[in-house]
Amino acid sequence: MNVLFVASEAYPFAKSGGLGDVIGALPKSFPDDVDVRVILPFYSTIPEELKRNIKFLDHFHIQMNNTLYYCGILSCEYEGITFYFIDNESFFKRPSLYNYFDDGERFLYFCRAVLDSIPSLNFDPDIIHCNDWQTAAIPYLLKHQYRTAFPNTKSVFTIHNIKYQGIYGFNDISKYLHLGFLPSDLEYYGKINLLKGALYSADLITTVSPTYAQEIKNSFYGEGLERVIQHVGDHVVGILNGIDEALYDPKTDPALFIPYANPQKKKSENKKALQEYLDLPIREDVPMVSMITRLVEQKGLDLVANVIHEILQMDLQLVILGTGDSNYENLLRSIAYNYPDKMITIIDFDEPLSRKIYAASDFFLMPSRFEPCGLSQMIAMRYGAVPIVRETGGLKDTVTYFNSKTKEGNGFSFATYNAHDMLFTIQKAIAIYHNEPKTFNLIVNNAFNSHFDWKNSAQVYLSYYKILKEV
Ligand code: ADP
Repeated sequence: MNVLFVASEAYPFAKSGGLGDVIGALPKSFPDDVDVRVILPFYSTIPEELKRNIKFLDHFHIQMNNTLYYCGILSCEYEGITFYFIDNESFFKRPSLYNYFDDGERFLYFCRAVLDSIPSLNFDPDIIHCNDWQTAAIPYLLKHQYRTAFPNTKSVFTIHNIKYQGIYGFNDISKYLHLGFLPSDLEYYGKINLLKGALYSADLITTVSPTYAQEIKNSFYGEGLERVIQHVGDHVVGILNGIDEALYDPKTDPALFIPYANPQKKKSENKKALQEYLDLPIREDVPMVSMITRLVEQKGLDLVANVIHEILQMDLQLVILGTGDSNYENLLRSIAYNYPDKMITIIDFDEPLSRKIYAASDFFLMPSRFEPCGLSQMIAMRYGAVPIVRETGGLKDTVTYFNSKTKEGNGFSFATYNAHDMLFTIQKAIAIYHNEPKTFNLIVNNAFNSHFDWKNSAQVYLSYYKILKEV
């Protein structure tokens, strides 16, 4: 079985969120007889020490609308996986991964470059596994323009977040798709919707949690594509993500102040070290609540903003690390400025600091409006931080409310997207921390012992690949 993963991120080469974690970890989790390789853009932001091992493989030119575009193919081995990179400086020599005026062109170029480069790879994929809108043109192109080149190759498309669809004006991107007219499979209110094209073209569609697979069939979560999801209905399979438990391991994590095997003992030392590092009052007995997140509407920041003063009335410390919408960045910075003893906002994307925060925190707040899977709550549990989440998508599939009778449950949760429901849940959690330390320790243990192993997910993906290969 040969599988080519195509994505716009893969940790440690490029990561802006959970997608990077997934593509960094899932390919390593398949059994040895499955040859899984990964292809992504050669961003100039790839860390220098990794670039040193990346070697030139081949180059060619792609013709799109009478223009020739350079396409270099580079390659390296990393932790037993072969990674390929598509090199074109005009598209990928930029300070960040996304949010450029020409993202549509950049990733359509990438999609075509991937398909055109396969003959140079000496690798014949049975499955091309695409991820999110940046790769969504591939299932479409494979079905409509590359069938002769790849008669037996099947496409799998995974929705990591249906909110981001790749919607562009026909005149802006049709040349990259070699389109003379707008086909109905791609059409969305007169524009091109790349995600829609993938949903209608892929041989299998998956998404990253069973609950999200159901949720996106209705309009609150479907982001305008719920009818398409209903239409392709049974083909949308929810497979829960995992985390790389070797990468996120408090016993060995070099980013931590004090690595630990037992969260009960060493978390408070990490908390004190972090308080000192962040200039918060050094208090072992105060519960630390954290958020490490993209600062976007999806993550429930409007709920937090709504009741932030009530939250800060409690005896707790709130640590927020994130980047995103400037209105949230400014708001959270200014609130922290007014509560210097209780709250700190760090506007940055800082991987080592994120790990220090996971390790120091007692609670991890994730009140998402929607959450396809969510990895942060799993990472938090791996470091013994108790999640407080809204019951949606993968949060619902990974966090269960602690039940004081059965002593089961690894966190706290609330169902309705409502600021006061969230506040009430935080108040309950903080009260348990202060008044029932034994119960709190039980919940920490339950969270710490919740395992989200990639190997299980990889087996499920493999079973679907096998079915596709036989069809
Ligand atoms: P999403 O993919 O929607 O951003 P996930 O919870 O699936 O959310 O994954 C988020 C990943 O990005 C986690 O590994 C989290 O630790 C990391 N992350 C998010 N924001 C930051 C930040 N500001 N600094 C460091 N890591 C971050």
